[in-house]
Amino acid sequence: MKVIAVGGSVTGLAAAAALADAGHEVLVLEREAAAPPSTLDEAADGWARPTVPQAAHSHAFGSRGTNLLRDRLPDVYEDLLGAGTGRVNLADSPPPMLGDFAREPADDDLNMLTVRRSVFEWVLRARALSRPGVSVRTGATVRGLVTGEGRVTGVRLADGTELSADLVLDTSGRKTDAPKWLATAGLPVPEQTSESCRITYYTRYYRRLTPAPPGPLNRGFGAGGLWDSYTAVLFLGDGDTFSISLGVLPDDKEMKSLREEEAFTAAIRATPLLAGWVAPGNSEPISPVYAMGGLDNSSRLADPAGDLPVGFYGLGDAVCTTNPAYGRGVSLALAHVFELVDLLAAHPTVDRAQAARFAGASKGLLAPWLGESIANDRGRAGLWAATVAGERPQMPPPGIVTFGTAVAASTKDAQVWRRVAQVMMSLVSPAELYANDEITERVGRALAGGPPPQLPGASRADLVAAVRGATAGQQAA
Ligand SMILES: Cc1cc2nc3c(=O)[nH]c(=O)nc-3n(C[C@H](O)[C@H](O)[C@H](O)COP(=O)(O)OP(=O)(O)OC[C@H]3O[C@@H](n4cnc5c(N)ncnc54)[C@H](O)[C@@H]3O)c2cc1C
Repeated sequence: MKVIAVGGSVTGLAAAAALADAGHEVLVLEREAAAPPSTLDEAADGWARPTVPQAAHSHAFGSRGTNLLRDRLPDVYEDLLGAGTGRVNLADSPPPMLGDFAREPADDDLNMLTVRRSVFEWVLRARALSRPGVSVRTGATVRGLVTGEGRVTGVRLADGTELSADLVLDTSGRKTDAPKWLATAGLPVPEQTSESCRITYYTRYYRRLTPAPPGPLNRGFGAGGLWDSYTAVLFLGDGDTFSISLGVLPDDKEMKSLREEEAFTAAIRATPLLAGWVAPGNSEPISPVYAMGGLDNSSRLADPAGDLPVGFYGLGDAVCTTNPAYGRGVSLALAHVFELVDLLAAHPTVDRAQAARFAGASKGLLAPWLGESIANDRGRAGLWAATVAGERPQMPPPGIVTFGTAVAASTKDAQVWRRVAQVMMSLVSPAELYANDEITERVGRALAGGPPPQLPGASRADLVAAVRGATAGQQAA
């Protein structure tokens, strides 16, 4: 089958590779005109992606996506390892408070890759392009759909060129114009929903100068914590690189200066869990501080029982985004890609029945994670807003498992830890954590004697003082 993928980033490139392996011919259309770096080293150290602002931010490569790469795109997986990507199994570093942790067979699935997103995407692109059925055209902006006989038969580019295909995939990411294209073509438009994640991200990259990690690695793939007004997470990268991302409320005025290098560094040094990583002599920064806001939990998922376009499917961020703090975007995009590949194998005719099956599969895959992300963001943003305003945060009612209570209990109960890890890694559905009687009972028992000690973060007062101090120092200089 001849397929066009609109957008040549993670989802479009993975779809191209996977569909080519299944015997399809894929043309990827990418609006960015600049050619990607010609070497991996160039890409690693600064691949400017004006149309993909999140490419500059830390990425955790979760288990669902990691396992899919290993099993279904093994050449990509192997080349990533060859490029210095680290391999981590979360069960190799359970919380120390669990004591004698007994590993279970399911723990073998808790794999992650540690690599900078630029390296990940460069390798994926190179492997996709190595397949005979794949081509990528850069500087090709899609502006609309071509239709005929009640279905999508191709795309129209900005210069008016029309290209035909048996199937058009929207892999154009979170800012997709597909709803406009569908409406203009008189085709059904899926309902769109969006709720702010209420988080702004600040990220900086570093190279480690010490032979061993200069700080704790409490998360396996790195280190991090979520405190009462911010989150700070360190992501191990390829080779000796790492990155740190800070997340704060978008309207947290005191934290606006985190985009300044001095303030960013001061906030990390005020966070005892991470301070050692940026102590003088332990690492050197290799990037400026990148900031990104405007993040939302969004859905453009079609109703399988409703009116559906034929010959046109959205994949990855183009149909659903969740808060990047949960690190699921790439895993869910890869899972979505393979849903499509498997559907095309089982039901190769592009028709209404195929569209309904894919809409059902997409909803089944993505809707639970969207719901979880929205619920967690409301809880976390409520806590942060109360702290910033100097108010007492509302506590969840007893007997309800929330992300916060589950994470707290996971330091005391190995089964809760395992379930939290499986859900964070998108391996089992959120209901297995939040609506499971055994887990609810275990969380209640683990927290009966009070919450476990907090990871060493900064209090609100210390964080504000550190950031203000750095800003004042800079102004005085
Ligand atoms: C701050 C941040 C941090 C994140 N961290 C993580 C993480 O830790 N782990 C994780 O798994 N995920 C993370 N994600 C999510 C992850 O980045 C995305 O899920 C992933 O990039 C998949 O994106 P995509 O390929 O669907 O879309 P994108 O990466 O947005 O790519 C869309 C592509 O389409 C092109 N395009 C757009 N319109 C057109 C058009 N009309 N014609 C032609 N081309 C077009 C764009 O130029 C771009 O190349 C994060 C996201 C953000 C915002």
